[in-house]
Amino acid sequence: MSATDRHGQAYTYCSFCPKMCRFACPVAEATHSESFSTWGKMTAAHLVHEGQRPLDESTAKAVHACTGCGRCASFCKHENTVGDALFAAREETVKLGLQPRGAASTLATFTQAQNPFGDELSALVATWRSDTPVRYPLFPGCSSLVKRPQLIEDTIAVARAFGAPMGVSRVASRCCGYPLYAAGSHDAFRDHARANAEVLASVPELTVLDPGCAYTFNVVYPQFGVHLETRVRTVVEVLEENLEHAPQKPPLPETVGYHDACHLGRGLGQYDQPRQLLARAVTRVQEAASIRGEGGCAGGGGLLPRTMPEVAVEVARRQAAEVAPEPDVSVVTACPTSKRMFERAGKQSFDLMALLRRWVES
Ligand code: SF4
Ligand code: SF4
Repeated sequence: MSATDRHGQAYTYCSFCPKMCRFACPVAEATHSESFSTWGKMTAAHLVHEGQRPLDESTAKAVHACTGCGRCASFCKHENTVGDALFAAREETVKLGLQPRGAASTLATFTQAQNPFGDELSALVATWRSDTPVRYPLFPGCSSLVKRPQLIEDTIAVARAFGAPMGVSRVASRCCGYPLYAAGSHDAFRDHARANAEVLASVPELTVLDPGCAYTFNVVYPQFGVHLETRVRTVVEVLEENLEHAPQKPPLPETVGYHDACHLGRGLGQYDQPRQLLARAVTRVQEAASIRGEGGCAGGGGLLPRTMPEVAVEVARRQAAEVAPEPDVSVVTACPTSKRMFERAGKQSFDLMALLRRWVES
C-alpha cells in the first residue's frame, strides 16, 4: 500500500465535505485562496489519487501549502489528520521531480548531511558536552544547535535554578528527521527513524527542547512503526514537574501574550505546563481569542518557510496580531521555530526559556 493509499479515505472525506473547517486553515487565510483551503488541497490530492487529475506543478504546490498545524482537525467531525495526508501526497512530487524548489533543496541538504542545515552537528554537540553526568540529558534539536545556542544556554541556566540539571546529550547530534517527513520522503524518514532508535536506545531518557522534535519522536515515529525505548519528554514538561523547586521570586511586572505552538499543544497536548511556568514568571499573561486546540499557527511547520516564505511570514504576522495586538506586548512561545517566525513578521517575541531565565535571575 502506497503512502497516499493509506490516506485515501481522508482525501475523499475532505473532497466531499461542505468545507466545515473553512475558517481554520492559516494558509488559506493568509493567501485568501480557495485552492489553499484544507478542502482545496485535499481535493487536489484526492483527484490525483483517483487518477482524475494529473500531478503537475499546480497540484504539487497545493499539497505543499500546509504547515501540518492540525488546526483543521480541531473542527473536523472525522478528525482528519490533514497534515499527515498532505505530507504523504508530497511523496509523489519527490518521485516526479515536482517539489517546490525550497523543499527540494532542503531534501538535498538533508540527504547529504543528515540534517537540514548541512552542518556537522557532532562538532556542535561536543562544545556543549558536560564532563559530569546530569539528571536530565538534553536534546536541543538541530535548529537550536546551529542557530540558537543562546536558547540552549538559557535552558540549562533555568533548569539549574529549578534543581533539575540538564546537559546536552551525546545523541543530540542526530536530527529527529522531521524535514524528511514534511518533505514527503517517507522511506528515507522511516530509515532515519530506525537508525535513530538504535542510537537513542543507549539513553533511557531524553528531555527535548524543540517541541517539533518531541512530536516527531513520540507521535510520528510510531505512525511509521518505529517505537523508541527512550522516554522522551519536553523541557516544559520537566520544568513544570520541578516548579516547586523553582526560586521563590516575585513575578516580573510584565504583560506577555502566549502562543500555543502547534506541535507542543495540538501535537503533544501540552497546554497547561507552559502556562503554569509563565504564571510564575510574569504578572499578566494575555490570551488570544482562539487558544489551545483551536489556537492559531505561526507558519513555521511543514517546510512552508522554504516553499512559500512570504505566506509563512504572513501567517506569523496574523497570529502575532491575534496573540498580542499591542505593539508594546511581546509574544512568548516555547517553540524556537515559532519565535523565529514572529521575528520575521516584525513582532517582538521571546522564548519561554529566555523569559524564565530573566525571572530566575531577577
Ligand atoms: S478536515 Fe474535516 S472539516 Fe475540514 S474539509 Fe476535511 S473533512 Fe471537512
Ligand atoms: S494542517 Fe493546518 S495548514 Fe494544513 S490544511 Fe490543516 S489547518 Fe491548514
